[in-house]
Amino acid sequence: MALEIKSIKGTADVLPSESYKWQFVERLFLDTAKLYGFGEIRIPTFEDKRLFIRSVGDTTDVVQKEMYTFTDQGGRELALRPEGTAGVNRAVIESGLINGALPVKLSYALSCFRAEKPQAGRMREFHQLGMELFGSASPSADAEIIAFVNNFFGLLNIQNISLEINSIGCPTCRKEYHAALRAYFESKKDQLCETCLGRLEKNPLRILDCKNPECHEIAKDAPVVLDYLCDDCRAHFEGLKKRLDALNIPYTVNPRIVRGLDYYVRTVFEFVSGDLGAQSTVCGGGRYDGLLGSLGGADQPGIGYAMGVERLLMVMKAQGIEIPEPDPCDLYIGSIGEEAAIRALSLVSSLREEGFSAECDIVGRSVKAQMKYADKIGARYSMILGDNELAENQARLKNMQTGETVDIALDDDTLAQFFYSAGIDDLAESLKNTLGGALEGMPPAEL
Ligand code: ATP
Ligand code: MG
Repeated sequence: MALEIKSIKGTADVLPSESYKWQFVERLFLDTAKLYGFGEIRIPTFEDKRLFIRSVGDTTDVVQKEMYTFTDQGGRELALRPEGTAGVNRAVIESGLINGALPVKLSYALSCFRAEKPQAGRMREFHQLGMELFGSASPSADAEIIAFVNNFFGLLNIQNISLEINSIGCPTCRKEYHAALRAYFESKKDQLCETCLGRLEKNPLRILDCKNPECHEIAKDAPVVLDYLCDDCRAHFEGLKKRLDALNIPYTVNPRIVRGLDYYVRTVFEFVSGDLGAQSTVCGGGRYDGLLGSLGGADQPGIGYAMGVERLLMVMKAQGIEIPEPDPCDLYIGSIGEEAAIRALSLVSSLREEGFSAECDIVGRSVKAQMKYADKIGARYSMILGDNELAENQARLKNMQTGETVDIALDDDTLAQFFYSAGIDDLAESLKNTLGGALEGMPPAEL
């Protein structure tokens, strides 16, 4: 019978043949973040819907079209998080973190939900790695998190990814800019889409981010915000550029970047890949100095970004970047009869305690089927236990690749010793090496 209930469009299962890559990337991200002083925060999957309306903004696509909202049994209006920044901002206020030592530096790895049209690089449930930094208005904070992302891509050996930066000003200089934008779009009113007509009054900046091809075309000739920056915003932007230059981080200024979320002020940035087709932004972020205050928290500045894990892995795949596969099973122990099966269980258990991966038959299959399975899982060594082996307390260990065999005493220490001397690292050691390798040659975080 065919499976009746299928996964929801725009969601995906990650199987073991892929999940080791996710684990590697997440772990590298969170561990490297620690070197920069960022500790991991975990926040709820759903929140009060008003949190996103207020922070992401009610004229944005995310809030207007893409949010998964529902009313729970208690009549509360909730939403699955479309992004991480709003929840992290709420959490630093609610926990009081923002009233402690500043800056507060947080990292996260989480899933997000957006009701968008699924396509390559666009899912309805997707995953982000991100950071938020609170309590510094200095361009050094902007530079620090951009330098992190740049280093992270470098650690993963990702090429052909470019940093684009812009400043979208602050509420002061934006007044004048909004007026100029409004005047420009007013003159093209008859060509704008329905949604953008609504945005014209409320938030003309949003029109620059409209995906409608006609609006997009018109937006190309719109006034650019860089021409309207106030002295403070200009100085901040120059300060950022100076720091990126000092850190040897290449970038281009792209005055067309406005980002799809309302809370941004001053710095916005994207890392764009040439290997992704239409959905080319791997990472996007910016400064959100008014957000904490508008949510009822201390009036502290903040800056953050998020990168999509799916897109990151797509880029790595396109560039042929291999993530080390986890070690296969070191030893598979087959058995004939109950007594041997029980002995096999206890032998694999003690090998696992030593950090080796070991398996034995737990299905009760024929020896032939057991060996076929050992082959399928790519076991490095195998042995079969029967009455004779138990009587002699010795079994034949077979190297599955070369076919070589060696007789070995059936006690825990002898077996463990064999695997140590066979040059098979224990699990902890091999994980350390894997990460250590990726971190090698990493420039220190300096500012
Ligand atoms: P886009 O322009 O691609 O719609 P966005 O501006 O909506 O991106 P952000 O809200 O800034 O994206 O999210 C940061 C990152 O999260 C993006 O750069 C992208 O890598 C990833 N991302 C966003 N939406 C999706 C999605 N629907 N599916 C997969 N990844 C996504
Ligand atoms: Mg989007």
